[in-house]
Amino acid sequence: MDHFDDIDLADCPCCRGVGSIEEEGGWCVYVQCLDCGAHTAELSFKNEDERRQAARMAAMNWNFGKVIRPDPGD
Ligand SMILES: [Zn+2]
Repeated sequence: MDHFDDIDLADCPCCRGVGSIEEEGGWCVYVQCLDCGAHTAELSFKNEDERRQAARMAAMNWNFGKVIRPDPGD
C-alpha cells in the first residue's frame, strides 16, 4: 500500500508541528501531529477506494483545523 504521498498536509493547527497521516489496524485513518499529539477524528474504511477518500477527508479536516487537542495533563 502506498502512503498518501499525494496528499498535502498543513502545519499542526495547535503547535505548527508536522502532521502525519496514520493508519490504524487497517480499518481507519486519521492525521496526527508528531509534536503535540493533536489529531483528527478517525475515519473508517472498508476498501482501497474508501481508504484514499478517508485519508483525503482526514487531511481536509486537519488543514481546516478540525482537530482534537491533546489533554492538557497528558
Ligand atoms: Zn501539534
